[in-house]
Amino acid sequence: MKTLVNQERLVSTFIDLAKIASPSWEEKGVIDYIKQKADALGVECVLYPCNNSYNVLIRVTGDESYIPVLFSCHMDTVTPCENIQPVIKDNKIFSDGKTILGADDKSAIAAFLEAIELLKEHALPHGHIEFLFTCAEEVGLFGAKGFDLSVVKAQYAFVFDSDGPVGKIIVAAPYHISMKIFIKGKAAHAGMEPEKGISAIRVLSEIITAIPHGRLDSETTVNVGIVKGGRATNIVAEEAECTLETRSKQKARVLSVKREIERTAKVIARKHKAKIKIESTMDYEGYAIRENHPIVLIASQALKSIGINSALAVSGGGSDTNIFNAHGMKAINLSSGMRQVHTTKEYVLIQDLVNVASLVLSIIQHAKH
Ligand SMILES: [Zn+2]
Repeated sequence: MKTLVNQERLVSTFIDLAKIASPSWEEKGVIDYIKQKADALGVECVLYPCNNSYNVLIRVTGDESYIPVLFSCHMDTVTPCENIQPVIKDNKIFSDGKTILGADDKSAIAAFLEAIELLKEHALPHGHIEFLFTCAEEVGLFGAKGFDLSVVKAQYAFVFDSDGPVGKIIVAAPYHISMKIFIKGKAAHAGMEPEKGISAIRVLSEIITAIPHGRLDSETTVNVGIVKGGRATNIVAEEAECTLETRSKQKARVLSVKREIERTAKVIARKHKAKIKIESTMDYEGYAIRENHPIVLIASQALKSIGINSALAVSGGGSDTNIFNAHGMKAINLSSGMRQVHTTKEYVLIQDLVNVASLVLSIIQHAKH
């Protein structure tokens, strides 16, 4: 299918971005790059402070007859991301194997910048469009959490932060709660008077084996990921703690699993006369968008018109999409073409970069009542 996308320019933007190290909270180089491009194109670009970094919002005003839409992606990457050397081979872009590539999520940044460039270059008709580039996504969706959505005009948000072939649309993602269980027992000499002690490690291990774990049902999981405790073999361990998470597509379910874990842990601690403290946080809320919701229809029609089939999917993880939905902005998560993300084998097909830029333009054209 014929596209307006300037492949050479898009690839060079992507390579520029990939070479700028941007671990979470250290996105300054990418922010400067986006700001510079926006200034050169004459579009409004505002930096919103978020802890030590910024979220960046580009506004392109347009025709009121369109539905105002937001495109979003994140600027930070996981590590290792120092001195990234992108390599182009067989129409794919890789790193040199020593680092990640950062197509997560720079494939989307490059595509957004290309789309803005094309809107200007070809004077394409469009509505009010916003592009949000968030910081610190990888370490806890902090940019999205710290962004005040009341400054945007958009009705729908199209997040590009999923992997795999372009065409994938994530319409549902789970709720996620993380928990920490602290046990305080009583220290005693392990050889001379162990009966005077209360082993926090034994209490905690009884709790860990008693609580629900692994896959509970098709929509719900629990995992204990970290265990710490004890000082030496000759001391009955006074303190032990573990960190766990539970996820479910159903809010009521994730909350009931959390309560069950708390109840079980408290009963066991009490039985052994150990002290217990439990901390839990809802890291992000889940979402589920119905298949015939206008936001899904806009995306699938936009894909169809560029000759790509859409594939609706459910995610097992969280993204900025969860935060936008929780804050009342309907949002879906689309593939930005990145593959094998969070590894040194990460890559992106040049064709997928082109497809993402085409898709952004196509969504802009299809965002109509
Ligand atoms: Zn990402």
